[in-house]
Amino acid sequence: MASRVIPVDPFDLVIFGGTGDLATRKILPGLYRRFQAGQMPEGARIIGAARSELTDEAYRELVRAAVAEHVDADRQDGAELAGFLDRVSYTRIDARGGDGWDTLAAKMRPDTIHAFYFSVGPGLFGDLAERLNTHGIAGPDCRIVVEKPFGHDLASARALNETLARHFVEHQIYRIDHYLGKETVQNLMAVRFGNMLFEPLWNAQYVDHIQITVAETVGVGGRGDYYDKSGAMRDMVQNHMMQLLCLIAMEPPYTFDPDAVRDEKLKVIRALDPVDPDDIVRGQYRAMNGTPGYLEDAEAPDSPTESFIALKLHLSNWRWKGTPFYLRTGKRLRARTSEIAVTFKDPPHSIFGEQPGQRSNVLVIRLQPNEGIKLKVTIKEPGPGGMRLIEVPLDMSFAEALGEGVRDISDAYERLIMDVIRGNQTLFMRGDEVEAAWAWADPIIAAWEARGDRPEPYDPGGSGPEDALMLMHKDARRWREVRP
Ligand code: NAD
Repeated sequence: MASRVIPVDPFDLVIFGGTGDLATRKILPGLYRRFQAGQMPEGARIIGAARSELTDEAYRELVRAAVAEHVDADRQDGAELAGFLDRVSYTRIDARGGDGWDTLAAKMRPDTIHAFYFSVGPGLFGDLAERLNTHGIAGPDCRIVVEKPFGHDLASARALNETLARHFVEHQIYRIDHYLGKETVQNLMAVRFGNMLFEPLWNAQYVDHIQITVAETVGVGGRGDYYDKSGAMRDMVQNHMMQLLCLIAMEPPYTFDPDAVRDEKLKVIRALDPVDPDDIVRGQYRAMNGTPGYLEDAEAPDSPTESFIALKLHLSNWRWKGTPFYLRTGKRLRARTSEIAVTFKDPPHSIFGEQPGQRSNVLVIRLQPNEGIKLKVTIKEPGPGGMRLIEVPLDMSFAEALGEGVRDISDAYERLIMDVIRGNQTLFMRGDEVEAAWAWADPIIAAWEARGDRPEPYDPGGSGPEDALMLMHKDARRWREVRP
């Protein structure tokens, strides 16, 4: 089944930081794949803008190399790449000075969608926003895309929102969280709100608990400097995991419009209870068998920053009162995997008596790898020998269900960029959502800092610190295994 691609309108997309890591690894390869998929119209233009002195030709070489390195070999195609590169040009720009802005202004075509991707450090957002306006480049319909981290705490996030609000209105600001661009994350909404089967059970009466896991095998080597100022709470929980929690827990929006969806997500964040310090486990991977530990990777010998965190959260609202949400994320764990698991309660009475094979139903929404959705159900073990029960998965792995079409499933970044061009903010965070998430996270972080808590060391290649297992055990529950 091939996926249907709807072309977008002609656009000028300026990538500030167009020579940087994010642009070359994600944004440009993603745009190339959209071009291949036939989604980019004749009138699409991509303008790299950065500090380096480059000709258009040299920039195209850089884009060519980025595509060669970051696009699958079976999708490399010289003729298509040449067609894509025809749409690419470069302008040297100084975000903090006057260089390049008039050249950029002259390149922007009237009556075309204008989008500006701020793929630079957040310290430059204000400068870019201001210069786009003072040089008359930013019209009332243009869009800006801003990257994480969106602030370091509530105060800095507010300051950033205020800076952007001086130059742009909210409907022009696209705060990217690439987790929201994942196919399965959107499918989560389709499953919840497109079927009758799940929603009646989607509440504290029928759901025992929900687990959200984002496990990585990599350490922080190479970006320890950034990570050490952040930690798992700021880097993963406040943004990506909070967004997943919102989509799992929110009420059905009255429509799929951006503000209707985001209003419901905001209500989830506001309904979060303060977290009991006993319900938080922070960990830090240690050195083992010659591989460096966090402290060496981060080059911070005494760092109290967590590379792992597990938390138990409660929501105070009618739907979820009494159903815990367990979140965990960490680096240097056994496998790279992200999933959400909704565990339903046991049937009120088993007519089959004690049956070892009878388990609670679990709906597993797998974000990576092998995106897909699986529902575990109890059935009778086939064959004679009486009524013995076993658990089997009803599996909807996208690769199997959609066959060839799965090849066309776009990566999160490219999908989100196309949404920017379409002017659809549903999968982007609104300013008040980001602030609410910081308002929730700030006191938790402040409390452990005030206590001088140190993270618990854990062995790399496992599933995190012992105490994280205990967080579940004390509630007579278990984490799902971290496995590929
Ligand atoms: P990078 O350091 O690799 O690239 C920075 C880019 O900004 C370069 O193109 C550089 O020329 C340009 N730049 C710097 N100062 C400039 C100035 N004064 N004027 C004009 N251009 C200037 O950074 P990156 O890793 O690509 O990250 C970009 C943004 O994306 C950051 O906000 C980062 O937090 C965010 N981000 C990056 C990743 C990632 O995987 N790299 C992931 C998520 C978010």
